[in-house]
Amino acid sequence: MAASNDILTDITRNYSLATLLLAWYTTEKRELPWRETGDPYAIWVSEVMLQQTQVKTVIPYYERFLQRFPDIKQLGTASLEEVLTVWRGLGYYSRARRMWEGAHYLLDQRGGKMPKDYEALLLVPGIGKYTAGAISSIAFGQRVAAIDGNVLRVLSRLLAWSEPVETARSHRYFKDHLRVWQPVLRPGDFNQALMELGALVCTPTKPNCESCPLTQVCEGYRQGDVYLYPVKKLKAKRQVVTRLTFVLCREGRVYLQRRPSQGLLADLWEFPGVELSHEGGLNDSLPVVTDDERFKLFQMAVPERTFDGWVREQFKQGLALQGPVWYTFSHRRWKICWVILDLPEPLEPIPSSVSSFRESVGEYRVDAWQDQLTGDNRCWVSLHDLSEIPLPVAFKAIVEDLTDGLSP
Ligand code: SF4
Repeated sequence: MAASNDILTDITRNYSLATLLLAWYTTEKRELPWRETGDPYAIWVSEVMLQQTQVKTVIPYYERFLQRFPDIKQLGTASLEEVLTVWRGLGYYSRARRMWEGAHYLLDQRGGKMPKDYEALLLVPGIGKYTAGAISSIAFGQRVAAIDGNVLRVLSRLLAWSEPVETARSHRYFKDHLRVWQPVLRPGDFNQALMELGALVCTPTKPNCESCPLTQVCEGYRQGDVYLYPVKKLKAKRQVVTRLTFVLCREGRVYLQRRPSQGLLADLWEFPGVELSHEGGLNDSLPVVTDDERFKLFQMAVPERTFDGWVREQFKQGLALQGPVWYTFSHRRWKICWVILDLPEPLEPIPSSVSSFRESVGEYRVDAWQDQLTGDNRCWVSLHDLSEIPLPVAFKAIVEDLTDGLSP
């Protein structure tokens, strides 16, 4: 481990690190839309979108999101449904839901304005330590650290830090150094420069030390050991499960349910289904389930009992399972298999509309959705309107399977 006091007290080195880094950033930084604004709300949106997502993917989403929700008021007064729809395709939907909750908080508690202090920002739902540091330093010029994955990697190499970087102790160690290194002038640029260096030069697998502005102050480089860093904790293995999915079709519509407000894919619509434990590693074999078992699983997945008799009959006809397709979340991998249950006879009229649902949808796409609802958390949706609904990307293959051949 590097001797922290030696590094911390080296004033010349500290001074030169910020100077070198900022000079590099000024000439080499990428022109990105969120770097052309000082609006804390826009910076918030960009920082949330950039979590877990690449810059080039984020740019069109950022522009579309700000066009539709240009400020905190527009975001806080929109329906969650609409926010999720605009977010659709970017993944990790809980980010959008938390930001929407944050906008509500700011409207209720802060007069619709973003606070500039780090501690006050931390009270906003959806704003954690990193985002608070980024907004506070970039939009308000506060001298606060913003440590994301890129910055962790750069710091671990600069300091030749030989402990796992994710621990509280490591964060304290890095923050102690940043407190000394971060300049009074341009503290936000300093944070962004560290992130940019991690994204462009000090990359995970191929750090390009030859073109790095910090070689003369980099301990890892001096030791010739940059590949040893960052040290990471051993990760828990990603859980693999089979997701057996039931696609109910009826009169050109499909049945969707809303997921619970907590946990994976919270609040999103889905084709109902159940998770089965999965023993076969990453092979593509389909689960072997008897008709009776399948029916019981259907009853677990769909609380509504209206279709039971019909569905049991369908299973007796030996419907084939389709798939699988794989979808990977941060801690879980779904092997998605599905069965299409076609309900050709009208069982009972499809209810015309439910006002509470319409209120929750707001003005957006109400025309397409009305006359299709059976309750707040269940709906029948026309196949033509499926693309308008914030369905998780995990179900893309099923949607394509259903809509393939539909006229535009
Ligand atoms: S010298 Fe190499 S290891 Fe050190 S910060 Fe630069 S790119 Fe990273």
